[in-house]
Amino acid sequence: MMVYEAWEVSGMAGSCDVVVVGGGQGGLAAGYYLRRAGLDHVILDAQSQPGGAWRHGWDSLRLFSPAQHSPLPGWAMPHQDGEDFPTAGHVVAYLRAYEQRYDLPVRRPVRVHEVRPAGEGLAVETDTGRWLARYVISATGTWECPYVPDVPGRAEFTGRQLHTVHYTSPDEFRGQRVMVVGGGNSAAQILAEVSRVAEVTWVTARPPRFMPDDVDGRVLFEVATRTAAGGPGGSVSDLGDIVMVPSVRDAREREVLRARPMIARLTAHGACWPDEAEQPYEAVIWCTGFRPNLTHLAALLPSYQQGKVATHGTRSVDEPRLYLLGYGNWTGPASATLIGVGRTAKATVADITARLHP
Ligand code: FAD
Repeated sequence: MMVYEAWEVSGMAGSCDVVVVGGGQGGLAAGYYLRRAGLDHVILDAQSQPGGAWRHGWDSLRLFSPAQHSPLPGWAMPHQDGEDFPTAGHVVAYLRAYEQRYDLPVRRPVRVHEVRPAGEGLAVETDTGRWLARYVISATGTWECPYVPDVPGRAEFTGRQLHTVHYTSPDEFRGQRVMVVGGGNSAAQILAEVSRVAEVTWVTARPPRFMPDDVDGRVLFEVATRTAAGGPGGSVSDLGDIVMVPSVRDAREREVLRARPMIARLTAHGACWPDEAEQPYEAVIWCTGFRPNLTHLAALLPSYQQGKVATHGTRSVDEPRLYLLGYGNWTGPASATLIGVGRTAKATVADITARLHP
């Protein structure tokens, strides 16, 4: 472990070789390999309970792969009786058990406000004091940074607007006219269930691309792995954008999987398409994705705007003491999935180990 000779003692929470920011699946996968490598580390998580983003999904959210195809490193997710596709609650229980099983040093709730250079290492400023580390792995996910496009008239619309992160169940839209915006899995799954109780219009920026029915998370992981290895065949995005989970297939049977092009603008009580009269809506659900949650890294990445950070593997090009884990394919193929993040976490810890013990 590194020894810091001159730091301020007041406000110090501790020091270690590696501070992991975020205790969702990415942070836990990093912790698994850090423990195995014998590196002194701590995992700081802003939430009061384990589970990361899986604690906040909508009521009916399920994995798009069976449990046996959704493992973190070392321990497969147990099968849930009677459930082909595990519920979000099951994933939360698994993550809770996982961190206990490997006795991972998770501290919560601890929110990291800023990571900045401090001598040869990095200072990690939190709401419970400062940590000093030689390396920081940021694994803060995307859930806290919902993205909503700047559609004209958004501020004028007097109905309800919410993002995927605030959606819980279709019940609150019963009998209403609802617009669901977005061409990905969240939009398709929310459309599938809201359309059972409400009159729904689905709006996408480009025609929706449905995957073949037999593609699930396992297939996506295999394709991502093959592509990353330079193998033949297409990439994951060539397969489409929307996994045909049972609820979406059911919506297809009911003929509600029909998308309209993007609206021209929202109005006070509805929306307009180009050259069309206004259509009334009571609610708009923005299923329009997320951005990486990197606000705590502003001091390390001053030129970062939005989207990706330049990396070698997961190591930041601009700040080599910083690693970015689990944000999307730019931080490793399928690294924003349960089955995929382990491989990237392993490579990240191997890189840190090699630098600590050359
Ligand atoms: P998160 O789970 O978001 O965890 C990040 C943690 O960091 C959180 O606990 C957060 O509170 C904490 N944090 C954030 N900022 C700070 C800070 N400044 N200081 C301290 N802590 C902080 N993947 C699959 O494998 N299968 C699926 O079927 C699947 N379905 C999905 C469905 C939806 C609707 C979505 C959105 C994602 C789905 N995913 C699926 C993708 C993926 O598994 C999740 O996005 C996953 O939660 C990402 O894990 P993570 O650890 O990177 O981030």
